[in-house]
Amino acid sequence: MKYETVIGLEVHAQALTKTKIFCGCSTEFGASPNSHVCPVCLGLPGVLPVLNRDVVALGIRAGIATHCKIAPYSRFARKNYFYPDLPKGYQVSMFELPLTEHGYVEIFTESEKGGKKIGLTRIHMEEDAGKNVHDGIEEGSLVDLNRAGVPLLEIVSEPEISSGEEAVAYLKALRAILIYAGVSDADMEKGNFRCDANISIRPVGSSKLGTRSEIKNMNSFRFVQKAIAYEVLRQEEILEEGGRVIQETRLWNEKKGMTFSMRSKEQAHDYRYFPEPDLVPINIDEAWIARVSSELPELPDAKRKRFIETYALPDYDATILVSSQALADFFEAAVSLYPKAKMVSNWVMGDLLRELNQENLAIEDAPIKPKQLAAMLKLIEDGTISGKIAKTVFEEMVKTGKDAAQIIKEKGLTQVSDEGALGKIVDTVIAANPKEVTAYRGGKKKLMGFFIGQMMRQTGGKANPGKVNAILKEKLDQSE
Ligand code: ADP
Ligand code: MG
Ligand code: ZN
Repeated sequence: MKYETVIGLEVHAQALTKTKIFCGCSTEFGASPNSHVCPVCLGLPGVLPVLNRDVVALGIRAGIATHCKIAPYSRFARKNYFYPDLPKGYQVSMFELPLTEHGYVEIFTESEKGGKKIGLTRIHMEEDAGKNVHDGIEEGSLVDLNRAGVPLLEIVSEPEISSGEEAVAYLKALRAILIYAGVSDADMEKGNFRCDANISIRPVGSSKLGTRSEIKNMNSFRFVQKAIAYEVLRQEEILEEGGRVIQETRLWNEKKGMTFSMRSKEQAHDYRYFPEPDLVPINIDEAWIARVSSELPELPDAKRKRFIETYALPDYDATILVSSQALADFFEAAVSLYPKAKMVSNWVMGDLLRELNQENLAIEDAPIKPKQLAAMLKLIEDGTISGKIAKTVFEEMVKTGKDAAQIIKEKGLTQVSDEGALGKIVDTVIAANPKEVTAYRGGKKKLMGFFIGQMMRQTGGKANPGKVNAILKEKLDQSE
């Protein structure tokens, strides 16, 4: 039987505030354990939470940026469960009245080049739990509550994602939106952007959802893709053997390359949700929404469209260039100085990203500035260097931060375009290869490539290819 994959993702993104969601403790990462705590986030009796207004503002931003409707009236709810790192015995989250609902994130993949909208069910605010620490401890475990009460936005998608590739595209698009909008730094290594993947399969053509398994807490695109691939195969095998998939929570084990069952999946009613009595409901008026909306910068979708229209770039280029604001800014700054957009795009997407990758640098820390790239492109255009030599020059630019002109001078890489000089070298090449010359003149025109290769060898790759071609043709055809 043929199956199709159905995926819904829940993302937890840490909202970019200085202090926690219900108390004044710092959210700074990496502090010594239990140094950012107070009676509120420790869950001590007799204290009351106070909502951090900035979290609401960031939630509204996230909602607007993902085309959601902001609820005029929403409220927190208690989600009751026991964990050693959850001292209150419940998590303050939102349930029946979330902050914002019914949005979408548009993705572009190889199979969905025209774009596919993945529906967002909701975005709500909640507090993070602490962290159990097991590593390096001989006996038992310890609890670090610095993270308890750190503000999270939970972003829940509709089950409309059809493959691992789409899941990764969705996560990348969502992450870029949150970073652009200043909602979250979405730093995956710090756990500030992590994802639960709900995965099911069903016979192709069926409209009923299959039973899902949920893979918890992944903070790498690669893991998400691998875990989905594994899970789809596992479920297919179960169904093929006539079995039934059970609803459960699983964990991805990167070392083993497999998912493992963690617990059978609880249902919403198991949590005994009820409205949080210690916090007042949240009223959001149009004026607040308008104010937040006016503070938002141009977002990836809009920028992508503008890049395609203004610079006549292919979809593919635009999608990559807007994947980070800094990359898009680099591109636009370079284009403003060297207005051949596709050429600039090729160098930024290809050579620049590759070199930065190799040096393990983010675009923000690129050793070269857009104007240096533009200057190098002008040197190709005016014939000072060939496109081929430019690759070497550019590599050196990214390594050293030096200007192209300086590197060309230091290494003597200027292109040889002088026709007299090139003509002399052509003569020696012709004299040194009589057999090939005869064959060429006898009709083996393909040998042109061989002669060009010889010329490049003689000149250390510096010969102007256009000129070489013309002179070779002229001299070889001369005495035919
Ligand atoms: P919970 O909070 O218990 O995980 P939700 O109802 O909020 O449950 O659903 C969580 C996610 O699971 C959503 O992203 C939703 O799209 C997805 N989902 C629900 N049912 C399925 C299914 N049968 N297959 C795949 N994804 C599903
Ligand atoms: Mg879930
Ligand atoms: Zn606190």
